[in-house]
This record gives sequence, C-alpha cells and structure tokens, in this order.
Amino acid sequence: MIQSVKIFCDFDGTVCLGDVRTILFSTLVGEAVHEAVELWLKGEISGDECIRRECAAVDNLDVEWFNEIIDQQEIDPAFPLFVEYCKLKNVEVEILSDGFDYYINRILKRYNLEYLPVFANSLRIEGNKLIPGFPYLNQYCGRAANCKGTHVLNNAGNDQLRIVVGDGFSDRCAVDYADVVFAKRKLIQYCRESNISYYEFSNFNDVRNRLEDLLRRKRLNPRHRAEIRRREAFRIEANL
Ligand SMILES: [Mg+2]
Repeated sequence: MIQSVKIFCDFDGTVCLGDVRTILFSTLVGEAVHEAVELWLKGEISGDECIRRECAAVDNLDVEWFNEIIDQQEIDPAFPLFVEYCKLKNVEVEILSDGFDYYINRILKRYNLEYLPVFANSLRIEGNKLIPGFPYLNQYCGRAANCKGTHVLNNAGNDQLRIVVGDGFSDRCAVDYADVVFAKRKLIQYCRESNISYYEFSNFNDVRNRLEDLLRRKRLNPRHRAEIRRREAFRIEANL
C-alpha cells in the first residue's frame, strides 16, 4: 500500500528554465557540438559517448567565463515554493539529470537548495579541459549516460508513489517506471507513443496544484504497467 510520495525531477529545462548543458556547449563550442547530440537523438551513439564528444570539443576552457554562463541561468521561480510545500507534506524531492553535478550544485546553491539530493554525471575541470565522469552509467541503457530509470527503480520503496517530472529524451527510462508523470516538450511525445498517461505542465505551480489534488485522495495507487516493469527489472537484475 502506498504510504508516501517521492518526486524525481529532471534539471535542464525542468527545474532550470534553460537547458544548461546545451547552452554551455553551444556557447563554448558552437554548432559543431550539435552533431553529437543529433547522433545521440537518432540512437546512433550512446549518451555517454555524446557527452565525451561534447567535452572533447572544448579546448582552452576559460573557467571564469564557464562559471559566468552558469551563473546567468535561472530556475523556475515556482520551484523553491514547490520544494517548501513538499517538505511540509513529507514528500521527498530528488534531482535526476543527464547533465553535470558541477553546474547543478552551483545553481542550486545560489537558491539555497543545495541540500536536495542530486544524481547526475560528474564533471571535473583539469587545466583548460572538461573531464566528464559517469558514476551511474547503466551498460544496458544507451538512452542516457545517467540512466534515470535506475534511480526511479532503486531510490524508492514499494510503499512510495514514484512521480517523475521532466521534459526530454533523457527522462524516458524514468517515465517507464513512474506511477505519475508530469511532462512537457519532447517527453509528451514519448508518453503518447508509449501510451503512458501524463499531466502536461508548464511550471512547478502546475505540478504543485496537481500534487495537492493527489495528496487529498484517500488512497494512492501505483500505475499498473509501471509496477509490472519494476517487478520485471528486479527479476532480470536478480538473474544476472
Ligand atoms: Mg530536461
């Protein structure tokens, strides 16, 4: 039986208004970097290979400028209040991102939200090079360098309703295992194609309003197909 709710939030384009990873590489490298992303979107290269290529394309990094671009990024103005509301209602909030811990932590800190758990790819600056790391790479998933499905699967209990809020292709695995989905942009297309019901949202006020409705219900039920997929995933894992 469902006792509590846990929310997994995408960062780029969801918590943060812009897609910071795309903004950074477009600004630092220019059009050339889109080639890697196009190949990734077509499924021709894996998510981590895409990021390796993006980082390799950056030479002579100006760290100050890099940080400046990050410091210009703003989060959804409704997000801090949303987090406050969740705290009040004992709803856990976690950030899942196929971007980098480096800028996510830096941006969250600016809004005093650095206590939120963040699961993202890592990024080190060595001299004038960007060195990516993939602590959550799932070799069975080529969709993203940080397979968000793994976190949605493992970071919640059977008595928790798993909610995913996202906007893009890297949220696909997360959505497969989610009980409730909030989607915008490309993620809507994926939900439609996969027959996964979703709430369309444009900002965290919308999410909060819908969450209030959900929390008012006497009983929360897991999404049947997500439950089956979670069970299947655990069975496969147990047999490996
Ligand atoms: Mg996104």
